[in-house]
Amino acid sequence: MPDPQFFNEGDLVAVLTSQPLDRTLDYKAPEGGCWQGAFVEVPLGPRKVLGVVWQSGEGDFDYAKVRSVIRVLDVAPMQQSMQTFLRRVSDYTLTSMSVMLRLATRAPGLGDPPSMQHVYRMGAAEVLRMTSARGRVLAVLEEFGGLSFTLTELADAAGVTSSVVKGLVKLGAVAQEATPRDVPFPWLDPMLPGKTLSREQAEAAAQLLTNFDGYGTTLLKGVTGSGKTEIYLEAIAACLEQGKQALVLLPEIALTAEFLTRVEARFGGKPAEWHSGVTMTERRRAWKMVGQGDAQMVVGARSALFLPFQNLGLIVVDEEHDTGYKQEDGVLYNARDMAVLRASLIQAQVVLASATPSLESWVNAKAGKYRWIELKSRYGQAVMPDMRIIDMRGETLPGDRWISPSLQSMVKERITAGEQALLFINRRGYAPITVCRACGNQVGCDNCDARMVEHRFLKRLMCHQCGETKPVPSVCPTCEVEGRLAVVGPGVERLAEEAASLFPEARVAVLSSDMFGSARALKAQIKALSAGEADVIIGTQLVAKGHNFPLLTLVGVIDADLGLQGSDMRAAERTFQLMRQVAGRAGRSDKPGVAVMQTHQPEHPVIRAILAGDEEAFWQAEAVEREAAGVPPYGRLAGIVLSSTDPQEAFDVGQTMARNCLPLTNIGAQVFGPATAPIARIRGRHRVRLLVKAQKSAPIQAALGEWLAQFKLPNSLRLSIDIDPQSFY
Ligand code: ADP
Ligand code: ZN
Repeated sequence: MPDPQFFNEGDLVAVLTSQPLDRTLDYKAPEGGCWQGAFVEVPLGPRKVLGVVWQSGEGDFDYAKVRSVIRVLDVAPMQQSMQTFLRRVSDYTLTSMSVMLRLATRAPGLGDPPSMQHVYRMGAAEVLRMTSARGRVLAVLEEFGGLSFTLTELADAAGVTSSVVKGLVKLGAVAQEATPRDVPFPWLDPMLPGKTLSREQAEAAAQLLTNFDGYGTTLLKGVTGSGKTEIYLEAIAACLEQGKQALVLLPEIALTAEFLTRVEARFGGKPAEWHSGVTMTERRRAWKMVGQGDAQMVVGARSALFLPFQNLGLIVVDEEHDTGYKQEDGVLYNARDMAVLRASLIQAQVVLASATPSLESWVNAKAGKYRWIELKSRYGQAVMPDMRIIDMRGETLPGDRWISPSLQSMVKERITAGEQALLFINRRGYAPITVCRACGNQVGCDNCDARMVEHRFLKRLMCHQCGETKPVPSVCPTCEVEGRLAVVGPGVERLAEEAASLFPEARVAVLSSDMFGSARALKAQIKALSAGEADVIIGTQLVAKGHNFPLLTLVGVIDADLGLQGSDMRAAERTFQLMRQVAGRAGRSDKPGVAVMQTHQPEHPVIRAILAGDEEAFWQAEAVEREAAGVPPYGRLAGIVLSSTDPQEAFDVGQTMARNCLPLTNIGAQVFGPATAPIARIRGRHRVRLLVKAQKSAPIQAALGEWLAQFKLPNSLRLSIDIDPQSFY
């Protein structure tokens, strides 16, 4: 990269703002000048908006009329590699630069003067009326003499309410001081010793750290419980030792707590966190400290990729196959792919970790584009669970029960042995369908082409498309007959009810993302469960993702056929990954585990591949099938969704677009559709899909851009483009 330019006062600069304009705007550099990349405040009409000095100005306006930059913000300027990254992601995903900039500045008050917070230390005054609560507060301050605490830290550490601390402040026994809120993150020490690695782990770590300079991507494949985390912690240590920053992406906030604890144990401090569960002030602190190099490590969700790292040396994408990495609204990017892009622009390393990699990464590794490191056995005494099926055709069960007699007796054995059993069903809520037995109609969402799902826990029906809820009706909304509504099918809540009645002596707990008011409550529940505070855990997909439940020795998959029905090209891959991940929850410590799948299709090739555990064969077969179909990773796809409140309008525009597709046929691409989308209506908007399919090497973005530029879309119509779509809803 060339050095950033400096602009003197009055020079024309082009500023990118987060306003929905398709271009940069010219301004005059402010008094004192500014650097390329500087974050600035500029006037726009009557308002002041945030922007970045992108390059020198275009100069196509009357200089005298060009306004000046108001001020340069007191944050580290955007690096040129970040400018390039935003540009490349914008080009790849066909997203406007203003939206990219918003993604890169998702912290409030970046331009505000440093805000202050109160911290607490030992005060001078004696306490006359000592209580045990007061005593504990003073004892904490005594013990950590030099440190100051925030109010919650101090109250938590002493196990008292904050009013006890405030009372001591009034008495002068505790001193309250104001300090800047945006303080550097604690130092992480890469020289602290890690765990003693097993031989297989040590070999993997050594391999990973060979040629650990410059750009490189490694697929770290290892069965669940093999210690992948320990291996990439070694890579993080090496990165920190080089004085560089490290980023770890996790697919699920609920996973961060356990990981943070491990980081703290390894490096002696907590890293910065970046995800939707982090407060706004913490977000701003993280953003600023990352930019000025005062946060060595960030643990976060996919948008952490757009933080202004000063010197990023390593990106870890844990559970790299997880579909959560593909953002399904807003900017449609796959964080795994963009991590590789970002690293390649700044000569950094990438580690993609998974027990069940995506076919994309598997192919890249096989082709030698990624380094392949594999851990084949679990750490220590743990062995992979024994995989079995229960053929549901041979079980007798009433229509409103889902736990087969065979599975019941296995669960009972675990309860007796004081171990845990997990029953897995990938469906939130109580029941997926509410039907009227008088007229036969199913209760649907008013805004979407979707059924309303009963959530008994919330006492409401909920649409999983738009989130709309309504009270559970007693009268059929269609025929208005009373008392004939019935629920059909199982959800996680209903399964819990069944388990509670089958195993009255057991403690049954439910783990589903929507049943917790906050990320904190969810984390607490996971912690309690792994400590053994339940005998039977009923869980959705959430439990499949990397938690450690040491006492868990049985996993029962209620409906292994659920994922096999979709028309999605990734249905087989997803089912395979999910079943292997769930099964991986069993027997993670010294007790061996069993995973059983209830299925009506024991002969299905995917079920057989899962049972056989022959991954290589499964991936080979998948690869052959996708290559034959010319779909990713062997071909390119782009999904176009047109939506409008008027179904005819969306369809007509789709038809016009399909007919005028010369820019696409010129690169050998095909256009399919328009067709009504599988979910024909969301939030009151009717949806029509087009699918563009091209060869892997075809310049699909450029052609799409040229194609779309031909049409002037009515304002009532919305268009979204999804490059490399993961789902086709
Ligand atoms: P993975 O990420 O592959 O699922 P983890 O890194 O979470 O595996 O390891 C599984 C469990 O085994 C964790 O509780 C971890 O602390 C433990 N473990 C793994 N490797 C070691 C080691 N070398 N020494 C001690 N404990 C280990
Ligand atoms: Zn809806």
